[in-house]
Amino acid sequence: MSARIIDGKAIAAEFRAEFAIRVERLKRRGVVPGLAVVIVGADPASQIYVRNKALASGAIGMHSEVHALAADTTEAHLIAFVKRLNANDAIHGILVQLPLPRHIESRAVIEAIAPEKDVDGFHYFNVGSLFMGEPAFYPCTPFGVMKMLEHESIPVEGAHAVVVGRSTIVGKPMALLLLNAGATVTICHSKTRDLAAMTRQADILVAAVGRARLITAPMVKPGAVVIDVGINRLADGKLAGDVDFGPVSEAAGRITPVPGGVGPMTIAMLLGNTVKSAERAAGLGSRAETRIA
Ligand code: NAD
Repeated sequence: MSARIIDGKAIAAEFRAEFAIRVERLKRRGVVPGLAVVIVGADPASQIYVRNKALASGAIGMHSEVHALAADTTEAHLIAFVKRLNANDAIHGILVQLPLPRHIESRAVIEAIAPEKDVDGFHYFNVGSLFMGEPAFYPCTPFGVMKMLEHESIPVEGAHAVVVGRSTIVGKPMALLLLNAGATVTICHSKTRDLAAMTRQADILVAAVGRARLITAPMVKPGAVVIDVGINRLADGKLAGDVDFGPVSEAAGRITPVPGGVGPMTIAMLLGNTVKSAERAAGLGSRAETRIA
């Protein structure tokens, strides 16, 4: 059997087109959704991510601004900077690019972001809302995975979902979103004793580890949906996911590629969260109505 590819790039393009329409609607009311991205220091990978986020915002007609602060910026200065963005009515989404330099405590900075502008979904208020199954800004990568599953009409309720990875930005929120959607969820991590025995039970398998080709074909139940969040740079410079794509796609029912799978959905959800924030600020729709990107 050969798996059907879940084309994250195409699905993300559909979402972006919908968001562009919502941006136009907001502009007719005199509101331009604005995203502020703050980067501290000159980490090359972070600079690329930040540039991509700004470009994607501009492409759907949103306002975006990148604030590049020096590597020796103090925590107090950064927090004061974030608070000024909180008070700026032209800004509906604030994202502080992680990781921050060692001398800054990331948690203190994230907690300084107004929860209603925390489009990354990392503030405790939004984390707590996710835990409670309430509307909130959910972290963009796992939220993007949920939107992919929904787009592909993949049933989550009642499915056994196995998430490999328990990070606070991907694995844990992924597991909670699946649980809130009615899946039976198993979370695996670096201390899991028999990973293959767990993954073989999955109707939906999400790999979010950061180890190239960790998930091999014998670890996948025939016909399973395999979502590969991992992004790994190989020695030859190419990108690979956490899933051994070729052989696993022979066993799986559906599979996401890397690149072109989860990655484009992540950026799309960031845009969606910012549009949603602007809609709330403009009084368009209730919290519940604007829950889904
Ligand atoms: P992380 O390093 O914070 O977490 C990795 C997790 O994998 C940990 O919970 C660890 O317990 C688990 N793990 C490590 N080795 C394991 C093993 N042998 N077996 C089982 N579990 C193991 O990483 P992260 O930030 O969650 O990111 C995971 C991957 O997803 C990375 O490749 C990252 O680049 C990628 N990522 C992609 C996107 C995207 O938009 N596609 C977004 C965020 C992260």
